[in-house]
Amino acid sequence: MSEIILGSHVGMSGKEMFLGSVKEAESYGANALMVYTGAPQNTRRKDVSELRLAEGLAYAKECGVKEIIIHAPYIINLANTVKPDTYTFGVSFLAQELKRVAAFQSKILVLHPGSHLGAGPEAGIAQLVKGLNTVLAEDDSDVLIALETMAGKGGEIGRTFEELRMIYDGVQKKDRFRVCFDTCHVHDAGYDLVHDYESVFQKFDEVIGLSQIAVFHINDSMNPCGAQKDRHANIGKGEIGFDTLYKVVHDPRFLQIPKILETPYLCAEGETKKTIPPYKEEIQLLLQA
Ligand code: FE
Ligand code: FE
Ligand code: ZN
Repeated sequence: MSEIILGSHVGMSGKEMFLGSVKEAESYGANALMVYTGAPQNTRRKDVSELRLAEGLAYAKECGVKEIIIHAPYIINLANTVKPDTYTFGVSFLAQELKRVAAFQSKILVLHPGSHLGAGPEAGIAQLVKGLNTVLAEDDSDVLIALETMAGKGGEIGRTFEELRMIYDGVQKKDRFRVCFDTCHVHDAGYDLVHDYESVFQKFDEVIGLSQIAVFHINDSMNPCGAQKDRHANIGKGEIGFDTLYKVVHDPRFLQIPKILETPYLCAEGETKKTIPPYKEEIQLLLQA
């Protein structure tokens, strides 16, 4: 019997750095984790020698965390044609990030396709493809870049499967290209996973190919299908609902594919600040037979 690979986004900070990330995943009963190599909203990065990677990796082996996914910071925008500096910076950051991913012994870097910022999807896609090809031409590792399916807010590229296909078509090193399938984003983009589960995946298969999915983000959504909002909800507490998310997690076609929760933290009784990670309970909920 093959085991479901399920974990969550975890932090990396303090003295323990990546060792702490692995311990956090262990505390949720996870066998996978996703981490940013620094703050997701900025691009300041510590040297990998300061991240306690060897200790974290050794501990991951011990506690059964077998899949490590890295998420690139979301301010990287390779699709930017409006500000050339942002694009150039993104290219050099991504080249460095691929090296960090390899240092984490991870095989998968999740990257947002970026936003065309009003220049139109074609211009954005062309710029993104150019950036990916520039970075990959100089990188000989086997790290996969998994472009994430996006909700389509604010000029985001990658809302439709066809856009992701256009990017795939433009990438030269196709063996390095994959997709990260985010259930909240796909739902917000207008694909009705709840009522048309089979046809959404059939469509994905026709346009891109199910074998291109390297990782799932398992999130419920606060908004109705097609809202293009991108607000994650806790498992079973949103518009997608428990049954559909459970179906994705247990879909026999995707058993080998790691699945990562990015659901919001919860408030303690009478508090307004979200301080409690929901992941232990949500993992248990999704793994029940
Ligand atoms: Fe993401
Ligand atoms: Fe996501
Ligand atoms: Zn999201």
